Amino acid sequence: MIKFLDIKRITESFEPQLSAEVQRVISSGWYLLGNEVEKFEKAFAEYCDSTHCVGVANGLDALVLILMAWRKMYGWSEGDEVIVPANTYIASILAISRAGLTPVLCEPHEDDALIDVDRLEGLLTSRTRAIMVVHLYGQVCDMDAVRPFARQYGLKVIEDCAQAHGALYKGARVGALSDAAAFSFYPGKNLGALGDGGAVVTSDRQLARTVRTLANYGSREKYVNQYQGLNSRLDELQAAALSVKLRRLDADNDRRRQIARRYIKQMNNPLVQMPCIHTWLGHVFHLFTVRCERRDDLQNHLSAMGVQTLIHYPIPPHKQEAYSEWNHLSLPITERIHSQILSLPISPVMTDEEVKVVIESVNSFK
Ligand SMILES: *Cc1c(COP(=O)(O)O)cnc(C)c1O
Repeated sequence: MIKFLDIKRITESFEPQLSAEVQRVISSGWYLLGNEVEKFEKAFAEYCDSTHCVGVANGLDALVLILMAWRKMYGWSEGDEVIVPANTYIASILAISRAGLTPVLCEPHEDDALIDVDRLEGLLTSRTRAIMVVHLYGQVCDMDAVRPFARQYGLKVIEDCAQAHGALYKGARVGALSDAAAFSFYPGKNLGALGDGGAVVTSDRQLARTVRTLANYGSREKYVNQYQGLNSRLDELQAAALSVKLRRLDADNDRRRQIARRYIKQMNNPLVQMPCIHTWLGHVFHLFTVRCERRDDLQNHLSAMGVQTLIHYPIPPHKQEAYSEWNHLSLPITERIHSQILSLPISPVMTDEEVKVVIESVNSFK
């Protein structure tokens, strides 16, 4: 069986260094708000070509904290609006709701599944405050279209980079392409911890300070609380593990690209549509998603051939019970993507032999 993602094999590929670093932190007796987080924050901000990084508990919190901070800094009201792609992972949308703002769903492009900038204008209201772009599957949105639009209407831009660590747009890193970026270090992401973790990256010093305060019970000075904040921290063990893994991120992303290139070159089944790739260097292939009108049949066929696949995602956010107020909406592009998309195995530790089996299995689908 070829696993969709073999996390155990990924972890083992960083040994013995990973365990040595974790053991070193255990022995230090210092587990929160220490040198390891500081060191990782500095390295990750640098990696993203940005200036500030704040480690937080997970990717959802990173998104929530940015939006909460902007509400404090700019006096946004409850119910002010943030435009977000309708086909994203639901966490992007949950973050907007959790921050007391209203998500406004934007249809993606049919071909690349990224936000369709031409539709933004039609979604603007007097209460629009920000655009959240999501670099879905590891490919960067068309930021040269998003940024001038946002500037024209005085909107903030937030990047959800949970699937795009290290991705590039015309040579520039995600995380430094907007006003603020949120990262997740969930174990299955391109840069994954040994548990939960996340980070906010920004070149805005005041935003970074406000996020740090909000993530620390709303307190900058001990026992003095400026805001009703939360407790959201990246811990020392996770930071130490992430520092080890960050050093190999570019090489890991290159290996993902190499596998994706082979898939696209050698998969030749007319029933299976390959993903749309804008630039080979930019995409980091967090997921390799194909489309097929008979998606469920394809998934069953691959399963019978010993290839595990997943669907990202089976139910679009506007059809979820959690957002019942949207259930009546019709978003045909989003719905078509959700009904046809299938994610094939891709990871830096897959062997050439496994890649070959995946290709042959896709090609033998009838
Ligand atoms: C994983 C993910 C998140 C949430 O990250 P967590 O660390 O699991 O909270 C947010 N947005 C997208 C697009 C994701 O893929």
